[in-house]
Amino acid sequence: MSKRDYYDVLGVSKNASAEELKKAYRKLAIKYHPDKNPDDKDAEEKFKEAAEAYDVLSNPEKKSRYDQFGHAGMGGGSGFGGGGFSMDDIFSQFGDVFGDDSIFGSFFGGGGGRGRGNRRTVGSNIRIKLKLSLADMRNGVEKKVKYRRMVAAQDVKFGSCRHCGGSGVVKQVTNTFLGQMATQSACPVCQGLGKVIESKPKDANEQGLIAQEFETSIKIPGGVADGMQLSVQGKGNEGPAGGASGDLIVLIEEIPHEELRRDNNNVLYNLWLSFPEAAMGASIEVPTLDGKAKIKVDSGTQAGKVLRLKGKGFPDLNGYGTGDQLVVINVYVPQKLSSEEKDLLMKLQESKNFRPDEDNKSFFDRMKDFF
Ligand SMILES: [Zn+2]
Repeated sequence: MSKRDYYDVLGVSKNASAEELKKAYRKLAIKYHPDKNPDDKDAEEKFKEAAEAYDVLSNPEKKSRYDQFGHAGMGGGSGFGGGGFSMDDIFSQFGDVFGDDSIFGSFFGGGGGRGRGNRRTVGSNIRIKLKLSLADMRNGVEKKVKYRRMVAAQDVKFGSCRHCGGSGVVKQVTNTFLGQMATQSACPVCQGLGKVIESKPKDANEQGLIAQEFETSIKIPGGVADGMQLSVQGKGNEGPAGGASGDLIVLIEEIPHEELRRDNNNVLYNLWLSFPEAAMGASIEVPTLDGKAKIKVDSGTQAGKVLRLKGKGFPDLNGYGTGDQLVVINVYVPQKLSSEEKDLLMKLQESKNFRPDEDNKSFFDRMKDFF
């Protein structure tokens, strides 16, 4: 099944404001809420689809990645790309969407009996930089990375939170125009965990976590570019009390190539020919991102001509084909001449064939076509 465009899902334009996004999502969340649509698989799918779209579009970082790369930018185990959105994730998101509106808060918090219960606290994300050569960015690569990560310390003892009685939530009864309604929110003492630390080793922090050296390997897809961010789910800091881990965010940095430059999905190479090579033609080796390639330069090749090596560029992340290598021809003019060379050139200068003037008609006709 192909994924629907997130903007279509929410029915908003690409430059919808945060308020518009929230409004559109609320409408859909209420319409397809499982409490209102019991045993309706289709409604549940729509409910999840809207939550996923809202999660991406309401987060500036995810939104810009989505705008640039579409669903492909979200893939590779990032965000929801992997396993999708669980109902728990969606309900924990409601705090932000409906939090400042007591009617909605009550409707979901108390009405459905779908308590938020013991909320698992998710660990924070870790950001690292990863330097890659152009060849690795083109072909894709698996890289080992080392970084420090917060993990659960040994010998941490948890006890039930007395403030909330271990439920992780505190209830409150409020009066609304619909009558009395129960609302619940995360316990401020245990932050919704239902548990508090009773004893921990000295080097563990308040959440019972310690820093540890960590190594993992990351698969980089071919086609990534400088400045792009990949997120690897679950490789960030561990959450307290067995909570889920945050993500590892990998910022891609390009190591400049000595001879080749990137231009979107194309590779640029400046080829310098000697005047005899340009005039008589030659077979020349040029560097590419997968080794040397032989190219044929026709006789009479002008400076500025661009030769194309098909498919030697970068694969498009969204699957729109592969770029090329563009070889831009330059003709080298010597800066110093011996008297012998000068004599040779003077002789050539006498030949009309060597002058780019009106007499050389066929050349100028071709140049007109060129421009
Ligand atoms: Zn508590």
